[in-house]
Amino acid sequence: MKKSIGMKSSYVLTAKSVDYEITETSAGNFALGFESKSGLFVVEYYGRSDTDINHEIKNWINKYKRFKFFYASSPKSAFIKECKNYHAFDKKKIDNKSHPIKPENTEYECPYCP
Ligand SMILES: [Zn+2]
Repeated sequence: MKKSIGMKSSYVLTAKSVDYEITETSAGNFALGFESKSGLFVVEYYGRSDTDINHEIKNWINKYKRFKFFYASSPKSAFIKECKNYHAFDKKKIDNKSHPIKPENTEYECPYCP
């Protein structure tokens, strides 16, 4: 199976599943979407949390069906990764309409903006 953004397999998006899979309180990135008939995870939205990915993903329950996640070593690396995903994907195919916002109280810049 193709793993387009190098994350682990996808999980059903419920509070129980999120708590089961995301056991660390950590910054991180996540992708939300659904599984196609052929079993491919189709991404519809990318997100990140600078503090607690478990908490952030729960905001999207009932809006999307499945999730993937990846812990980040710092808010900065989570931001950079989110920028990379944002620039790499066809904007018409994902729900993200605006560029990722830098973490609060930082001056991090997107390295992928022209
Ligand atoms: Zn950018």
